[in-house]
Amino acid sequence: MGGVSARDPGFAAALRALVRGDVRESEPLARYSTYRIGGPATILLPSSAEDVALALRTAEDSGVPWFALGLGSNLLFPDGGLDALVIRLGKGLDRVESSGEGWRLGAGLPGPLAARRTAEAGWAGLHKFVGVPGSVGGGVYMNAGCHGGEWAEVVTRVLVVDGKGQERWLMRADVPFTYRRSGLDGLVVLEADVILKAERPERLAEEVAELFRWRQEGTPFNQPCCGSVFKNPGGPSWQHREGPRTAGQLIEAAGLKGTRVGGAEVSPMHANYFVNTGGASAADVRALISLAQARVQEQFGASLETEVKLIGTRGEYMHG
Ligand SMILES: Cc1cc2nc3c(=O)[nH]c(=O)nc-3n(C[C@H](O)[C@H](O)[C@H](O)COP(=O)(O)OP(=O)(O)OC[C@H]3O[C@@H](n4cnc5c(N)ncnc54)[C@H](O)[C@@H]3O)c2cc1C
Repeated sequence: MGGVSARDPGFAAALRALVRGDVRESEPLARYSTYRIGGPATILLPSSAEDVALALRTAEDSGVPWFALGLGSNLLFPDGGLDALVIRLGKGLDRVESSGEGWRLGAGLPGPLAARRTAEAGWAGLHKFVGVPGSVGGGVYMNAGCHGGEWAEVVTRVLVVDGKGQERWLMRADVPFTYRRSGLDGLVVLEADVILKAERPERLAEEVAELFRWRQEGTPFNQPCCGSVFKNPGGPSWQHREGPRTAGQLIEAAGLKGTRVGGAEVSPMHANYFVNTGGASAADVRALISLAQARVQEQFGASLETEVKLIGTRGEYMHG
């Protein structure tokens, strides 16, 4: 087959006949994104790794693009939705197993839950990510991190499945992790093995509470958003620069805090967070992104690169 659309009811019916998980047609992506933005798509909620492999094979055989989705906390979906099969990893792919310092985590497990469960059991490493509202799979794929830590530091190996539905374990050394990138493009993360350090649970509980408080007080945590919109500008000369350096400081210094386009706003609380104040469209957020890039370039000569992934109508990444 070739040229089949993911919106074709025949495609959804063929997939439904193969998998045990739910196949939802014309499902609003806004429900699956922390921005609460995005038009309709055909979504599979796989119940097992086998479902994921079957879906990937079916999509690839039909020439339908596919898109792996976790908790949708680092994405901007298009207003018109996606003409791609969205494979949303969650329940059914969220197991947790441990033997001492080694933990195996399902990709669909929420990262904050992984952080809390490991910390409660007296293991340090993931606890730092308690305020990063993505899944384990999204954390590994994005090499998410904060407070001086990132997923790449704790991962020992990753179970992935490719477009042909073939599973394999990749050792840490074979995953080209860099800042907020894993290089696992074209693969779906199913599980990750991590290695953690023993620590007193009471100490970890205090740290988790402190980190969570910091998030609540310093960021618009309860408003629809995607966390940091831009990466911090890099390079050693930039880091030793006088004046505003981080993306948030630059946007604030450009006088953009509180600036709105439609329903999208540069958060008055933290300038690198753009929030959906209600009814924002993807077009509003994109226009605000372009505005911030232009002003920061003009005033400080800095190019801001997006950390949020701007998704095109076939599930492809757009440059922002
Ligand atoms: C309030 C807030 C605070 C945040 N703070 C931080 C922070 O401090 N540090 C930080 O790094 N990020 C932060 N983020 C961004 C985001 O939470 C992380 O990038 C997170 O790891 C994304 O995980 P997700 O499951 O939501 O991924 P999604 O947003 O669903 O997807 C992001 C990317 O990962 C891919 N992906 C997701 N799951 C898989 C999988 N199983 N296999 C293959 N690819 C997959 C998607 O295709 C997409 O390209 C924040 C976001 C919010 C809303």
